[in-house]
Amino acid sequence: MAIKREGRLCSFCGTSGGPGTDVDLVGGLGAQICTSCIDEFHAIVHDEERTSSVRRTMPWDRMSTTELVATLPQILASAEQNVAFAQEWVDMLRERNISWAEIGRVLGVSRQAAWERFAKKSGDKSATA
Ligand SMILES: [Zn+2]
Repeated sequence: MAIKREGRLCSFCGTSGGPGTDVDLVGGLGAQICTSCIDEFHAIVHDEERTSSVRRTMPWDRMSTTELVATLPQILASAEQNVAFAQEWVDMLRERNISWAEIGRVLGVSRQAAWERFAKKSGDKSATA
């Protein structure tokens, strides 16, 4: 099973994008960013006044309570996207015959703990290797 960008959202603004939409996404490690956010962040880092402003305060310090509440579902959607990506990554590793022991080793957990975390969700019930 190949990992795809379909159905993903921008981890920075929450916009849905990827193939089949008019929102291009790029990224890695589960996080995705849309071209609008790239343009916005690029503009900030190349504008000394804006860069200085974002260094002084965190974005949530400038948000209204309504904006803070409205952002919570986006934070959780982004977090869930990253967890799902980790699952897809483990599925890919298993397809390449990487053992549960090796997956556990890189995660700093036992083979059993790695299997319990990921195999039950992927349908991979092989407890061996
Ligand atoms: Zn975005």
